Amino acid sequence: MTAPTPVPTTPSPDPAAPTSAALFQRAGRVIPGGVNSPVRAFRAVGGTPRFTASARGPYLTDVDGTEYVDLLCSWGPMILGHAHPEVLEAVRAAAADGFSYGTPTEREVLLAEEIVARVEPVEQLRLVSSGTEATMSAIRLARGFTGRPVVVKFAGHYHGHVDALLASAGSGLATFALPDTPGVTGTAAADTIVIPYNDPEALAEVFRVHGERIACLITEAAAGNMGVVRPQPGFTQLLRRTTREHGALLVSDEVMTGFRVSAAGWYGFEGLGAEHAPDLMTFGKVMGGGFPAAAFGGRADVMAHLAPAGPVYQAGTLSGNPVATAAGLTTLRLCTPQVYAAVDRAAATVRDAAGAALAAAGVPHVVNTAGSMFSLFFTDQEQVRTYDEARRQDLGAFRAFFHAMLERGVHLPPSAFEAWFLSASHDEEALGRVLEALPHAARAAAAGAGSL
Ligand code: PLP
Repeated sequence: MTAPTPVPTTPSPDPAAPTSAALFQRAGRVIPGGVNSPVRAFRAVGGTPRFTASARGPYLTDVDGTEYVDLLCSWGPMILGHAHPEVLEAVRAAAADGFSYGTPTEREVLLAEEIVARVEPVEQLRLVSSGTEATMSAIRLARGFTGRPVVVKFAGHYHGHVDALLASAGSGLATFALPDTPGVTGTAAADTIVIPYNDPEALAEVFRVHGERIACLITEAAAGNMGVVRPQPGFTQLLRRTTREHGALLVSDEVMTGFRVSAAGWYGFEGLGAEHAPDLMTFGKVMGGGFPAAAFGGRADVMAHLAPAGPVYQAGTLSGNPVATAAGLTTLRLCTPQVYAAVDRAAATVRDAAGAALAAAGVPHVVNTAGSMFSLFFTDQEQVRTYDEARRQDLGAFRAFFHAMLERGVHLPPSAFEAWFLSASHDEEALGRVLEALPHAARAAAAGAGSL
């Protein structure tokens, strides 16, 4: 989701994907940039985005009939693989009972109970339809609860396209942010402060200067949108201590990590316990099972400020949609310890093989992990802990690597700044195809180094 360096897209027709190329051209006439979410357009890697016709288990099939091992998994949600038979059956059954009612349903209660049972800090939650809505609502609630205006976020963390959170660091540590995109006004960004991730001094400074005005600090529980960058040892604890000392709320964004890296997300994986629980958390992706369902929740006394129980307004025509809650509930119930073990194993296989292939081809790189989430940084730095470090990458090497994988039937995220996602359906055959492609791609990366 982080801004890539644009690369010109290949002119149509594309012999490797003629139907996709034709559709991309048609799409460009009626949809800005030809896609409904920017990173899908392949701008960071060039070439023709593959238009998917169908997906099953670990595979995507494009409109030209080419099959790819999917390491994108819809950017996270498809932890069980595509079209899982039990989820499909639940969706069919729910749809047969009607698509949307605008009245409460039992399944909303069941889904809320399922999440509350899994994630200890969540005493109450509200269902919404996207991760963006979840973070937007959580910061509104934090401001309403504390009566304070300022939100602190980290550079390189993405929380959806919420105006106040599409902001870049202003000059200097404890200064207010600047809009990141036209359309976000200076006023919308004015109460946001952006500081470097994993930087205890920057954190101390911002709370020293603005502590009494800070409503909340929002953090990706482990960052996945600048590539994967986990909190350094002690950093999560420091966030908890500092926010508590200053009467600000800690909002942990688990839209990506939630129900993916463990049954209780990064909170469960990191395992710091109730003393370090965030006040509010946000979820999406896996909890919708591939449908538009997301949530925010946390301390009951904070959630009690939400309408209609309290004064902070929040609503949604499709919130708690019956088909989406059926997909989400069934997916969560199927996420057993065996499923997490399978995802962990598949991720470790791909991660280790990718690292080994790059090392064998002499391509400098760093592999970062956060549970089963991981990404490769094409860099000669020793480690990547911040957005500045994440940005120092050889994008030419990544571009060559990406296309060599695609040519051999493996669909990676089309940007160097994204996590790779595996599912429990990535079996030996699918993983075998990935392992076979990696050495070729690593050699292509070596040849493409420095080309952008
Ligand atoms: N928060 C995080 C950590 C995310 O990774 C994303 C999306 O990638 C969002 C929020 C926004 O979610 P959505 O795309 O469902 O609006």
